Amino acid sequence: MAEPREIKVTLTECPDATPKGKWAGFAKGFESFSRIISIAAVPVVLAISGSMIDGSIKKQSLSREYVQLAVSVLEEPDTNKVKPGLRSWAADLLNKESPIPLAPDLLKELKSGATTLPESNVGLVDLPPKGTINNGLHEPSVAFLLSVLGKPGELTPDCSPITNPRLKDLVVTADVGPFKTVGLKPATDALTRIFARVKEDHPDLYASVGSAGMLCVRAVRGSRGSFSNHAWGIAIDLTVGGILAPTGQSRVPKGLQVLYPYFKAEKFMWGAGEARPNSMHFTASEELVRDWVSSGVIPSQ
Ligand SMILES: [Zn+2]
Repeated sequence: MAEPREIKVTLTECPDATPKGKWAGFAKGFESFSRIISIAAVPVVLAISGSMIDGSIKKQSLSREYVQLAVSVLEEPDTNKVKPGLRSWAADLLNKESPIPLAPDLLKELKSGATTLPESNVGLVDLPPKGTINNGLHEPSVAFLLSVLGKPGELTPDCSPITNPRLKDLVVTADVGPFKTVGLKPATDALTRIFARVKEDHPDLYASVGSAGMLCVRAVRGSRGSFSNHAWGIAIDLTVGGILAPTGQSRVPKGLQVLYPYFKAEKFMWGAGEARPNSMHFTASEELVRDWVSSGVIPSQ
């Protein structure tokens, strides 16, 4: 397999933190490009990479959303649920965005509903109802995290170095399975367990998951006064098929929804449960951090 190319682009950002670099969001897209098994994900990634080269980020982001929408339409096995005109539009759009045109017969079958795309991890699905996500878990407050982990560094708008030596000792670079990441040791250990289970149950999804950043010492976007959970390396932003799900949307790439129970089992919270859904974002809950403290994984200050 060829070495992944270091082309990076930010499609969108977690308001809770900034991805590692300005172009971080798309790095995994190329990395996973050769690994993606999902038939539907391939044209999506191709379409995005194609438009990335010749278009503005805005245009690219828009076309990504249209492609995701088209994939969702064409995945629907119940032809009665999709109006023929919509199916035809979706097939034409996918064909137009794909650098390799669909075979005429396949295009015709997709339009008629005789063929549907296999369910992929990038197609959009509705979020579970509010109040059914993250039950029993609580967002750790900044005051709580400061009390158990200390001040990570300067409260900067963008990522800055950790200045807290104690925290520095707890931060590791870890291969968690689908990617390497930098974060708090017990959090990366949990990610390793999570992705081992995901690999077992959903190898396609495992191959298409990427990271858009974990540790980032900075303030919550738009809030100069408060550290993001990323500042302690206890939260991670994930991509599926190289796509970062935009914030504030109630329809999310299916892969993130499939990942959620695995994170929940390790007491991680899904950002999709926030008032403004932030579905790329998974963070350790207060309950989990308390477990780390009581088990001595985080030594007392
Ligand atoms: Zn985040």
